[in-house]
Amino acid sequence: MAPSPNRDPSQDAAPRARRFGSTIKSRLLAPLAVLGAVQAAALWISSGSPAGLLFVAGTVGACALVVLRAVAPLSDLVGKIRGQGSPRVFERAPEEIRLLDKAWSQAQEASQVALCALEHQKRALDQHAIVSETDTKGVIRYVNDKFCALSGYERDELLGKTHRMVNSGTQSKEFFKEMWTTILAGEVWKGTLCNRAKDGSLYWVAATIVPTLGIDGKPERFIAIRTEITDLVEKERRLEALNHDLEVQTRLARDLAEKAQAASVAKGEFLANMSHEIRTPMNGVIGMTDLLLQEDLSPPQRERANLVLESARSLLALVNDILDFSKIEAGKLDLVEEPFDLRAQFASLRAFFSAKMAEKNLGFHLRIGHGIPSGLSGDAGRLRQILVNLLGNALKFTEKGSIIASVAVAEQSERSVVLRFEIKDTGIGIPKERRDALFQSFSQVDASITRRFGGTGLGLAISKHLAHLMGGEVGVESVEGEGSEFWFTARFRILDGGTIETGHDSSHNDSDQAVSLQGSRILVADDNVVNQMVCTGILAHLGMEAVAVANGREALAALEKAPFDLVLMDMQMPEMDGLEATRAIRSPDSKVLDHSIPIVALTANAMARDAEACLKAGMDGFVAKPIMPSALEDAIRKHMRKPGT
Ligand code: ADP
Repeated sequence: MAPSPNRDPSQDAAPRARRFGSTIKSRLLAPLAVLGAVQAAALWISSGSPAGLLFVAGTVGACALVVLRAVAPLSDLVGKIRGQGSPRVFERAPEEIRLLDKAWSQAQEASQVALCALEHQKRALDQHAIVSETDTKGVIRYVNDKFCALSGYERDELLGKTHRMVNSGTQSKEFFKEMWTTILAGEVWKGTLCNRAKDGSLYWVAATIVPTLGIDGKPERFIAIRTEITDLVEKERRLEALNHDLEVQTRLARDLAEKAQAASVAKGEFLANMSHEIRTPMNGVIGMTDLLLQEDLSPPQRERANLVLESARSLLALVNDILDFSKIEAGKLDLVEEPFDLRAQFASLRAFFSAKMAEKNLGFHLRIGHGIPSGLSGDAGRLRQILVNLLGNALKFTEKGSIIASVAVAEQSERSVVLRFEIKDTGIGIPKERRDALFQSFSQVDASITRRFGGTGLGLAISKHLAHLMGGEVGVESVEGEGSEFWFTARFRILDGGTIETGHDSSHNDSDQAVSLQGSRILVADDNVVNQMVCTGILAHLGMEAVAVANGREALAALEKAPFDLVLMDMQMPEMDGLEATRAIRSPDSKVLDHSIPIVALTANAMARDAEACLKAGMDGFVAKPIMPSALEDAIRKHMRKPGT
């Protein structure tokens, strides 16, 4: 039976329970009357009085109707009592009835308590949830106050209608179809609904629809419990919008980063080209000034020539730093790996710095620790760059005392060794709070110091990057006013098992010194006339005979005609460049007299890939432009064939 419109089902329970109680009571009174009659009959049977018989007959007759109506459910009991025929059963009956009555009263009380609890729970639910009940056609039979308050409809406007009253039309037909399929199958449906209130505004609810099933298992009605979540949905939408914005911004940022990266690569390439262009004339300035200084000059002329040389070198150092920095930024700074001699490295540092240290009256010590493997492989040029930078700084910021550079084994395995280099000075020191920023680009402790000493603030940042590329670290310890100790580590491959013989201080590499350059014939292949003049000038000064040609083709022709001891080969030349010429010299098909003649590249690019290309083409080594006399001499000594080889 369908519930009457808008009747609270729980409110029906109390009167129903009361009706049930009185029915049971009336049914219990009937058996009580029957039992009285049965007892009287028993009396009559035992006394044998005819008046008693009449009384019994009357009583039984009067109760007959009641018995017929009420006794039926108890007929079994009476049957049993008769069957047993025990008078004691009859004696116990009133007591049992009393107990039954008591139990009934208790049950009634319990049901009242349960009803009350149910009432409380319903009230609590009404405070929070929107509750409605429909029949299986969706016709609304019950709504709570919250439903009315939220939808803006009066109860009467809703009862007897369907939920279409509040359908906002924002959700698809398929959505509702799926909902109806679920609940008609007797299953619980859960979902989010967008409803429209009477005033047209939209509100969101999280709904659970529970079908109530009949004894045949089919749904008889649907109870819907909803919670308003409009705020939540709006927040979610705002979050989605924010997320979307964020995605757009991220995409934009990525695009910008890609553009910046491309710009950085372009900048790196531009700087590399520019530095190449700057280095070529610098080669002329430095080389020619060097040659000039070897001539007979008056003291003021010598002073001016020295100033030109010093300025040119500073400018070159600046160009080199900027080039390195741009290469680091573009991720294009690579290392080359070649065998090198640590002892020779230290010796060349001594040669480079000794005079300058002496000028400032500073003690200068270079120390090589015990157990350093003699055959090492790594980027000796970059190692020298770090050492020159740290020693240059020590020299710059120290006015009295001494500077010590040392190297020791920090860690060693079978195939590689980590060396720790330390450069210690007794200079001005660095305030504690400025130390962390030291290794960052363009970082200088004091602008006034920069003005006094010059510098870009790039040296330490580049050194740090180079040390990292070599698998090492950098650091500094310093006491203001007392001095600083800069250190770095670098990993090198071990080529053989021997160790460098340790002395107190390093000395020149005797084996290189042993090669006599006097009278050697060197072929210089360079299209730049100034470079040709610089090279031939340096070579002449070293007592060598130099022949200059303008490109690779002319070099091949010269090598076919006459013997030479070494070729200095420019990389970029018209007609035939240095790499192509080298490949031709090394080829057994060419007509040159000596296919294995030492070839040293002259390169202004100083990029790792150029160095690799040189070696790959068959060259033996390279010298970076602008050409320093000492570097050229070192390279020639290193690659010139020793007598008898
Ligand atoms: P630059 O020397 O070209 O300015 P660096 O990166 O090599 O750049 O050095 C950064 C700064 O670190 C220097 O300007 C100086 O303030 C400080 N510094 C470096 N080495 C020393 C040192 N040995 N003693 C004192 N200050 C130093």
